[in-house]
Amino acid sequence: MQIAKVIVDVPARGTDRPFDYLIPESMRDWVEVGSRVGVPFGHRTVQGFVISLDPQSQTETFKMKPIQEVLDIIPPLSPELVELAQWMSREYACRFITALQVMIPTALKGKAERYISINHSDVDQHEDIEYRETLFAEVSSVNKEEQDIISFIAQKSEVTTQQLSKAFPECAVALKSLLKRGLLQENQSIKDKMQKKTIKGVNLAISSEAAQEIIDQFPAKAARQKEVLQFIVDSIDFLPVAMKTIMSALQVSSGTVKSLVEKGYVTLDDYEVLRDPYKGRHFKPTTPLTLNEEQRRAYDQIMNPLNAYKHGVFLLHGVTGSGKTEVYLQSIQRCLEQDRQAVVLVPEISLTPQMVDRFKGRFGDLVAVMHSRLSGGERYDEWRKIREGKASVVVGARSAVFAPFSNLGLIIMDEEHETSYKQEESPKYHARNVAVRRAQSSGAVVILGSATPSLETYHAAKSQANPDFSPWLLEMPTRALGNKLPDVEIVDMREELREGNRSMFSRSLHAAIVSRLEKKEQMVLLLNRRGYSTFVMCRGCGYVAGCSECDISLTFHQKSNNLRCHYCGYAEPVPQVCPECGSEHIRYFGTGTQRVEEELAKLFPGIRVIRMDVDTTTEKGSHEKLLKQFGDRQADVLLGTQMVAKGLDFPDVTLVGVITADSALNLPDFRAAEKTFQLLTQVAGRAGRHHLPGEVLIQSYTPEHYSIIHASGHDYTSFVREEFNHRRVLHYPPYCRLILVTMSHEQLPLLLRMAENMTSTIQGKARQRGWFGNLDRLTPDALDVLGPVASPIPRIKNRYRFQCMIKWRGNIDAIGLVLESAEQIEDSLHDKNFQISIDIDPQMLM
Ligand code: ADP
Ligand code: ZN
Ligand code: ZN
Repeated sequence: MQIAKVIVDVPARGTDRPFDYLIPESMRDWVEVGSRVGVPFGHRTVQGFVISLDPQSQTETFKMKPIQEVLDIIPPLSPELVELAQWMSREYACRFITALQVMIPTALKGKAERYISINHSDVDQHEDIEYRETLFAEVSSVNKEEQDIISFIAQKSEVTTQQLSKAFPECAVALKSLLKRGLLQENQSIKDKMQKKTIKGVNLAISSEAAQEIIDQFPAKAARQKEVLQFIVDSIDFLPVAMKTIMSALQVSSGTVKSLVEKGYVTLDDYEVLRDPYKGRHFKPTTPLTLNEEQRRAYDQIMNPLNAYKHGVFLLHGVTGSGKTEVYLQSIQRCLEQDRQAVVLVPEISLTPQMVDRFKGRFGDLVAVMHSRLSGGERYDEWRKIREGKASVVVGARSAVFAPFSNLGLIIMDEEHETSYKQEESPKYHARNVAVRRAQSSGAVVILGSATPSLETYHAAKSQANPDFSPWLLEMPTRALGNKLPDVEIVDMREELREGNRSMFSRSLHAAIVSRLEKKEQMVLLLNRRGYSTFVMCRGCGYVAGCSECDISLTFHQKSNNLRCHYCGYAEPVPQVCPECGSEHIRYFGTGTQRVEEELAKLFPGIRVIRMDVDTTTEKGSHEKLLKQFGDRQADVLLGTQMVAKGLDFPDVTLVGVITADSALNLPDFRAAEKTFQLLTQVAGRAGRHHLPGEVLIQSYTPEHYSIIHASGHDYTSFVREEFNHRRVLHYPPYCRLILVTMSHEQLPLLLRMAENMTSTIQGKARQRGWFGNLDRLTPDALDVLGPVASPIPRIKNRYRFQCMIKWRGNIDAIGLVLESAEQIEDSLHDKNFQISIDIDPQMLM
């Protein structure tokens, strides 16, 4: 193979295609599909990925440039992942390079660095550097300063401009002249953002027998050295030992070790170490439990394709506490016995130590963990552990679906209904679809688990209509420990108000809290608010502090006591008086967790509350710390937003109170009822998980809403039946698919014109292809365009935003059509300021 097709890291539409490069003879054994390479592109060196190898090229060979460098010994991507990226670029209408980049850690997003070296084209044949230099100076008549620079570079073979200007602060003129005259040359090379972590390690340079003999004959005055050498010989099974370890164990200086190096007994080198974020933590080992009948039935079904090394997708619908995790663990066990690897995806928010414990406890060091709270270096090292085969299970958030395993057997997605599986920036992929696709091509099994499956997945399982995605439904309707699901009471808050109770706590919730405090049991209180922002409003005139660049209210930050825009970063101090009417009655509204906390303290003196919301969990590790405190019974109440609803398992929690169940129901999002049902079911599942029975109180202003009624009855089936009806009538997923096209520009009239163009272009193309523009008609293929309308946030960073929504169903290439239309509109305008963003199957409609 001598040609490599390379996708370069130059994000522009014109470069979104493979370019051909020659593979120099010396690199033939290194370049593979998935290799990361540095290639010349225009006048620069850029990073790229090899996506295929060819014996020949269409381009004429003499025009082709060679690959400059191969950046990793083991390619960061496999042919399988490259293929997956290609699929993603079509499925999610993104650039190929964007899909490739999302698969590797940021540490590997290399940057080109410039190096300066001597241009020896004429004098290269001479081996002797000094001679070469003189010869060089003679032929080129350089002055003293230039000669010094040349010598400096010759000794180091290549230097960066920075190094050079440090040694020669005023070298700019001379340097430019040398470059112009062709005596020096400038090269570029790709440099990774993240360096591997190394430590100074000491190893034996001689055999341990020889070392022992030396020790025995050591002169008495070198007692320290003798001690050190003995320590090293004793550590023979653990070599190299870290210099630091020797120094602290024996209280010696590095000088003592260095004298042993000088004598040639030991060596001192840099050794690479992996950063382990869970270092020093002990995980209680667990052994497999005997599966109960429901679990066994599910497990056996999963084993059918797994044991046959075949692809299969399952929807494990099990109520909270039904023991889904044990089914996951034993399925992974089987997968590891087959010498295959497993990926476990969990929502970012539930990637708590509790979750990690369960997997580390069963599989120990074979488990790598990946989530966004790891530092860049930690992430990089966990990723390398996977690629180098040191880990065979990865537990991680969304992007762990790209774990560089070579022999994948199983992908598990816990809480498959969670919206955080959809990435909101490009590539706007959904990890569920990517998981299924990846498993298809590698003959792996997928388990999607949830107590409240998304309507899309549940519909696919029930209808079995989609050839690409028809999960097999496995039901686990009872709890593993035999305890029943908690009783749920709905409290009508309008009734409370009528009876004169103006507090945020109903009388029942008040009484329930009192009784838990008496019995010394724990409680979880949830404030159901989506969009966590806290804003400032004047009670006199209703003025809300907003960003002048973006049409959105500013968020109050308690710690820094200022107001910030979450879209553009603008900040201002909190006003003392209302800028509109001068009133002093200006105050904060929002999540209100803080207000609930204050109210609790007032009503129940001495109550110990842990508040968990965006304000208290910004620091790394704070989430874990708070949960640990609660687990250690340092508080009576865990109070928070959605964060407290997910996956937690605390045995002493016997009361769950939902302070406002319906605040999310009125949001303009067709999934509002589904989200509310899921959240209520999840949080109710936190109660009475062990020997103590649980009670759940849901406070609501719309207690007759079906999502609240069915959540209180733990009745998923009735909820989905009702919700399916609404979706069918209104044409929403799962009865069609959506594409959201958002356009933006600084000038409103121009934007409006382009947005209207976009809508009519899509409509025109659909009509041409004979796709009916109306979903009400009973045709299998249909495509409808709604809009354009102003986006829910109509302006961000001074750019206006308009959107149109495409609804479509059937076996048609709607994505291709939208992409084609977008390109046509862009080409007609030639204005870089005009942006179109396409979101396939959007989750966030606000
Ligand atoms: P889920 O993930 O479905 O909400 P969990 O996996 O957390 O449920 O299980 C709930 C509880 O039941 C856990 O404490 C777990 O240890 C226990 N459990 C699960 N399966 C079994 C089993 N087969 N035998 C005994 N206990 C089990
Ligand atoms: Zn005012
Ligand atoms: Zn702003």
